[in-house]
Order: sequence, then C-alpha cells, then structure tokens
Amino acid sequence: MRLRNIPRAEGTIQAHSAVIKRPEDQRGCWRQVFGNKHPICIEIGMGKGRFILNMAKAHPEINFVGIERYSSVLLRAVEKFDTEEFKELRNVRFICMDARRIEEVFAEGEVERIYLNFSDPWPKARHARRRLTSTEFLERYRNVLVPYGELEFKTDNTELFNFSLEQIKEAGWTLTAFTYDLHHNEEMVRGNIMTEYEERFSGKGNPINKLIAVRK
Ligand code: SAM
Repeated sequence: MRLRNIPRAEGTIQAHSAVIKRPEDQRGCWRQVFGNKHPICIEIGMGKGRFILNMAKAHPEINFVGIERYSSVLLRAVEKFDTEEFKELRNVRFICMDARRIEEVFAEGEVERIYLNFSDPWPKARHARRRLTSTEFLERYRNVLVPYGELEFKTDNTELFNFSLEQIKEAGWTLTAFTYDLHHNEEMVRGNIMTEYEERFSGKGNPINKLIAVRK
C-alpha cells in the first residue's frame, strides 16, 4: 500500500505522542517506553492500523508497536488512533521505518510475537528476498524475539503463503498451526481481528490463509 504523498503526513506523525521518533534510542528500553513489564508484540506493515488498534483495545495486558514504512500510510493509523474509540489507549506506539532495520530498534529477546498481515507479495523471483517471510527476514525476527517467540502471518495470496511455509521450514522454525481457510477454521478463527485487507479480500470471497510459527 502506498498512498499519494500527503504533505502534512511527516509533520503530523512527528508531532504525535504515540509515534516514536528515534526508535533506535529505545533499543533494549522498550519497557520504559510503556512504563510496565507487559510483553511487547509488533505488527510489521500495519497499513492503516485497524488490526493493531483493535488488538491493543482487546488486550490491555500487552504492549503493541506498529511498524509502517510510509508516512502517508502511518498518518491514517495515527488519525484512527485519535478517534473516540482508540484515543485513550496507552498500550500502542507507532514507528515509521523499513522493517529491514528491526534489529537496530529491538534488542535480542525484546519482542514476544510478530504479526505480519497481508504483506506485499513481491511476485518476481528476483525480489523474493524482499518478502517479509523470507529466510533473510526470519533471521532478523529471530534476533529480536524471545526464545519460543511467535510469528503470526495472514494473507489471501496462496503463492506467498506456500513460499512462507517453505521458508519457515528452511529457517528451522517450528510450524505450530496453519490453515488455508481461516474464516472456516473454528479453532484458528477464535479471537481473530480483521485487518483492512482481510475485510476487503474475504468480502470478495477469497479464503484467508494463516500460519503460526515458533522461532528456531
Ligand atoms: N497489514 C495491513 C492490512 O492487512 O490491511 C496492510 C497490508 S499492505 C498490503 C502492506 C503494508 O506493509 C503497506 O502499508 C506497506 O507500506 C507495508 N510494508 C511493506 N514492506 C514493509 C517494510 N519492509 N517495512 C515496513 N512496512 C512495510
């Protein structure tokens, strides 16, 4: 997702209290950011923020950090955060950055779980390393997750999903659950919070794939 350039995006997100401006300064200190010892879960490529804001509302015992590459997209999440429904939340923060830099921002063992939702498919083979479930990214995630930390991934793109299943195996992670039809899987759909893309694609009749994997 890349929205047209919005001139006010940079200024608005820089001024917002939920946006962490120099996230690398918090490396190893994220508990201080939230002022408690609750586990930290992150969403990479959060888009307009529907999933992470609803997760934060449903789970006050967990701290959430949403990562998005584009300021024009993060702006939408920040604006959603400012609405009546979410503005009192104290357990969510946002970062504008490329997830490639994740190890500069989180120390080893600082993250409990990573959510990837409807990540860009990068269909060309020569771009496979850019996929957020490639072994290159899994290695970065391994370096910030707690031992037995989890990755949860949802997508309607079955090619990307099958690629991800292979990469998880290749990286030596343990696949704990997966489905090619989340919305008809009674066990895995329990507590499911929809993302913007999930609503759009499932509305068109596309089945949603989901996997859960545990770090090597
Ligand atoms: N997760 C949302 C959803 O399910 O509705 C948005 C999905 S959208 C297809 C993918 C989002 O991931 C885009 O907003 C894109 O800018 C972001 N993204 C892609 N690669 C990224 C990266 N390397 N680091 C941070 N964000 C990234």
